[in-house]
Amino acid sequence: MNNSQKAQHLMDVTYPGQAGGDTFRLLELLAIPAFVLDARGHAIAWNRACERLTGVPRYEVLGSANAWSCFHRDPRPTLADLLIQERMDEVGALYDAHAQLCDEPGHLSAEGWCDMPYAGRRRYLAVDVSPICDEHGHLAAVVETLRDMTDEKQAQISLEQLATRDGLTGLANRRCFDDTLHAEWQRALRQQQPLSLLMVDVDNFKQYNDAYGHVGGDECLRRVAGAVAKEMRANDLVARYGGEEFAVILPNQSLKGAAIVAERMRCRVEQLHLPNLGAAKQFVTISVGAATALPAPEYEPSQLLATADAALYRAKHMGRNRISLTRESDGAA
Ligand code: GH3
Ligand code: MG
Ligand code: MG
Repeated sequence: MNNSQKAQHLMDVTYPGQAGGDTFRLLELLAIPAFVLDARGHAIAWNRACERLTGVPRYEVLGSANAWSCFHRDPRPTLADLLIQERMDEVGALYDAHAQLCDEPGHLSAEGWCDMPYAGRRRYLAVDVSPICDEHGHLAAVVETLRDMTDEKQAQISLEQLATRDGLTGLANRRCFDDTLHAEWQRALRQQQPLSLLMVDVDNFKQYNDAYGHVGGDECLRRVAGAVAKEMRANDLVARYGGEEFAVILPNQSLKGAAIVAERMRCRVEQLHLPNLGAAKQFVTISVGAATALPAPEYEPSQLLATADAALYRAKHMGRNRISLTRESDGAA
């Protein structure tokens, strides 16, 4: 039996008494990309819209178990494969989001980024799968339909960026900082881990602005932001806290570790060798206040902030271009 005959046979089995061939032809002409895998995971239908989406003609897919390779570079099952192989517990790990489509079992939707190796452009696809059972109730095939949601996803990412990023430096903005500090505080509380915070302020920046103008000052802030951000680990967050102030959240970091990060940041900024002609110091420098807390229910994250701020004030007072630490007993915890 060739592939087309198999598909015809399947549709006849699936819809006894109906014109299975017509159903198959309808699928072919459907504007929505769709394909069908049989119970062994072999492709038995691959419509024109799916050809256009993937860049793969159906004669290359039909009869094979390689439908996945039209979407991903590295081997991984399609949603239809997962349903056929009863591996639905893996959906969460493989897709960005997923949901049950209706009350009937096996009807699922999921979405995520796909490499699209033949179409040549990564796309964000929303996929729905529905099982087709024979007259004995056994799974005969799975239909997978796809929607290209790339534009919508990119618009959503841009909106999220606008809401959480600082326009000048590209760092997290104040709102994102506040949310993250709250979330990390709760996490540290649950896991009984320390939480460190650095408050960073550019020294004599008013004079820099006076010497180089506001546009020059903006460029300086971008360079300093870049230098500060280079010291980040994966779970750290560097934010623009205000004008020429930055704040760094260091989850699960001791005060000693925070001091090392702060000193590295200070050196890195100094080594940018941005001349600050108006200031007593030759180059643009930063002062950093560091504080660490072991969160407890009776403390607020704002206390950690106030303690780091006080440490920053001391660093300024002691002559700038330096870091100042706060022991836990001094303040927040
Ligand atoms: P200190 O060492 O005590 O921190 O002195 P400072 O001059 O850095 O501090 P001050 O608070 O007196 O001045 C901060 C300056 O930062 C004033 C303000 O015009 C400038 N500033 C704040 N936000 C921006 C910005 O987005 N762009 C530019 N170019 N300047 C900014
Ligand atoms: Mg300031
Ligand atoms: Mg300053």
